[in-house]
Amino acid sequence: MNDILIKKTTAFFEETFGAEPQKIVLSPGRINIIGEHIDYNDGYVLPAAIDKIICFAFEKSNSNTSRIIAMDLDDEFEIDVTAPMELTDNVWTNYIRGVVNQLKKNDFEFEGFNCVFSSNIPVGSGLSSSAALECGFLFGINELFNLNIKPIDIALMGQKAEHWVGINCGIMDQFSSVMGQENKVIKIDCRTLEYEYHDANFSDYSLILFDSNVKHSLMTSAYNERRQQCEEGIAIIKKNYPKINSFRDCTENKVNSLKDKMSAAVFKRSLFVVKEINRVVQACKALDNGNIETLGRLMFETHEGLSVDYEVSCAELDMIVDTLKKEEAVVGSRLMGGGFGGCTINLIKKGHEEGVKKKLSALYFDTFGIELKIYDVKIGNGTSLYNNN
Ligand code: ADP
Ligand code: MG
Repeated sequence: MNDILIKKTTAFFEETFGAEPQKIVLSPGRINIIGEHIDYNDGYVLPAAIDKIICFAFEKSNSNTSRIIAMDLDDEFEIDVTAPMELTDNVWTNYIRGVVNQLKKNDFEFEGFNCVFSSNIPVGSGLSSSAALECGFLFGINELFNLNIKPIDIALMGQKAEHWVGINCGIMDQFSSVMGQENKVIKIDCRTLEYEYHDANFSDYSLILFDSNVKHSLMTSAYNERRQQCEEGIAIIKKNYPKINSFRDCTENKVNSLKDKMSAAVFKRSLFVVKEINRVVQACKALDNGNIETLGRLMFETHEGLSVDYEVSCAELDMIVDTLKKEEAVVGSRLMGGGFGGCTINLIKKGHEEGVKKKLSALYFDTFGIELKIYDVKIGNGTSLYNNN
């Protein structure tokens, strides 16, 4: 599938600019196996890059003017790279402007360029097409002008570009898009940014995403509220256990001992965070031992916690996970991302995928009158150059 995308993008580039691209860059979306709502709670996450990508084709324009074409949107814009960057109403262009702004802010020297890009990452479904866009574009400019920016700095500058656009995201998306490795997950310590790879050998299982195809508007307000409740929770924990600085150093027992000192909501949020951080540690052990059934059980537990204690699920996501829990061929399922819609991530025994897909799609449509979207994913490499010779 990616070969077709690469051919399509390069052919369009050649038609438009009359020459082969000087650089071709592939930049992936990402999944998160486990560790949800944990990046802002100083815990661990366990993401991976996937085999769905944005393909970029680049050349130097030999002037200050740059032309950038988004094939999927049939849209384009021009910028003068020497001029200051400003936000516009055309949102996708802001991600590009944000990256150019970051490069200028950090005093990197580059000239004009032409760029065409096209993607097979579903947009706005929680697979981080935005991080793939920022990081792939930045990676390409880095290659085209030999700027020598390290991968980790590409991720950090990509994150800052997204902040500039107005999304206050953590580092997980950009980090996994840039640093991903085939058949490996990355355990990222969100406090220190230390990371380690764990083998993710799902050979007897398929990773399938079921997209609820809904997005409830509660998302932003609930996110801010959860962040604030977690801050309150950790403050109460610190006050009573002065040696503890963050949720990762706390235990379920200690949280339970503070039940009377917390509001019901703060108690439930704190309990979820402590348990979820622990689940990421357990998940790494399970992967190291090739124990996918245990990993799957942890994923089910995460969903239960997100639904009952963290209260960020919704009827559609709960229905998907509850239905799949009853299927023997499904070893794990949970909502992935912020919640209130978007995708679930699921581990299904090989050979049973089609049956599960068919049954769930029919039931989902009967219940909600909404088409379920389905994406098969594999764990792939991070952002890289493609050699077209
Ligand atoms: P997600 O990152 O979960 O896919 P976001 O809302 O964070 O969703 O980012 C999606 C935005 O990224 C789109 O609205 C668009 O501005 C930009 N984007 C992503 N993919 C493309 C693409 N192929 N072409 C143009 N813009 C894109
Ligand atoms: Mg995004």
